[in-house]
Amino acid sequence: MGRPTLARLHYLERTQWLSQDELVTRQMASLGRLLWHAYDNVPYYRRTFREAGVSPGDVRTPDDIRRLPLLSRAEVRESLAERKSTAPPFPTIQKTTSGSTGTPITIAYDEESEHWRQGIKWRGYGWAHFRPGDRVMHYWGPPQIKPPFSKRAKITVDRMMRRERYVDCVAQDEAGLANAVETIRRFKPAVVISYSQAGGNLARYINQTQAKDWGTIPFICTAEQLFAHDRVEIEKAFGPSVFDSYGGRETMLLAMECDAHEGLHVSMENILLEVLVTDENGKKRPALPGETGEVVVTDLHNFGAPLIRYANGDLAKAMPEGHCSCGRALPRIRSVEGRKADTLIDGFGGQVHGMLFPVLMLPLARAVQQYQAVQHKDRSITLRIVPSANFDDGARRFIMESLRRTIRGVPIALHLVDEIPVTPSGKRRPVIVET
Ligand SMILES: [Zn+2]
Repeated sequence: MGRPTLARLHYLERTQWLSQDELVTRQMASLGRLLWHAYDNVPYYRRTFREAGVSPGDVRTPDDIRRLPLLSRAEVRESLAERKSTAPPFPTIQKTTSGSTGTPITIAYDEESEHWRQGIKWRGYGWAHFRPGDRVMHYWGPPQIKPPFSKRAKITVDRMMRRERYVDCVAQDEAGLANAVETIRRFKPAVVISYSQAGGNLARYINQTQAKDWGTIPFICTAEQLFAHDRVEIEKAFGPSVFDSYGGRETMLLAMECDAHEGLHVSMENILLEVLVTDENGKKRPALPGETGEVVVTDLHNFGAPLIRYANGDLAKAMPEGHCSCGRALPRIRSVEGRKADTLIDGFGGQVHGMLFPVLMLPLARAVQQYQAVQHKDRSITLRIVPSANFDDGARRFIMESLRRTIRGVPIALHLVDEIPVTPSGKRRPVIVET
């Protein structure tokens, strides 16, 4: 870990124990610096702030931020050149996201922002008892672009030095799952970082084959939504130290569960996260406790190519008020939910939230290994299920009757299959709406 990252980490280890008032004061100071920099040096924001009739001086309280315009995924994609700062710090790092909504976007940021990202990541992983230098097994999708051989060799050496081991989670046949178990036994990771649903699948295999011959291994879930039925399996296979996290390539770790397991603490020293609900007049307001809303994120330390009020397409559930029993005043979200695109439409034009399926499958954890629901353009639904031995007519009836009650007026077909294909990046999409 480089010195600048270490300095951020030490700072963040202290700020996590500050009072809510002090945290908000510091966050507003960071926001003010970002907004003035963007207004003075970034053509895109100078233009859009003026069009909206706001100046950075108008934003004094957290509520005032809603006077600033939102930045959609489409706008992020189209505005990169105009969003780059014309004064230092310049964006020296560029990344393309895998585009789980089907449209990849490129974002850029400066080195200082990278140090903050890394500091936030290491603090969050620390909550899961993971220290730099610990052995870690990544159960992840394959890298999208394979580096040339020489570079790949160097990466292998680096990973061994850093005591990291990567296991491809796309290979979820018998051999792939057995290989993952073998890696756990031989490599003895101090922590596993895993795609959430792939990890659920691995855990299910471990439980079914009674392969567990290890104690508790902290298990950090990432990249995919963590479903309750997968969490149950992971806790059985790896012990109770299961930590949900919410990250993205645009801003890295947005929120992470602490060891009180009472929701995910937002990384508010590095980002400003809003959860917004659209009311009946089409106006957006902050979600009330327990409500699900759109995630809007402001990247506080990225001056190179700022992201201000970026609606990233994710949905999160707002947390009831009150402090976490760990003592940290960092605000929390309850959970991150399916992508916004995962809303289904019934035969009468009504919206049906994609969360229907994980809720429906919860009592069927012993009968259903995997599933994927696809709503086609004609609104008909195909539900594919990888059954386990416990799947029977009762389970089939329960599913069909529940679906016919909830998504009324559309034809529903249930197919039992051997496997469900993953996207090229290795992510699973439990609900797909074809548009
Ligand atoms: Zn906590």
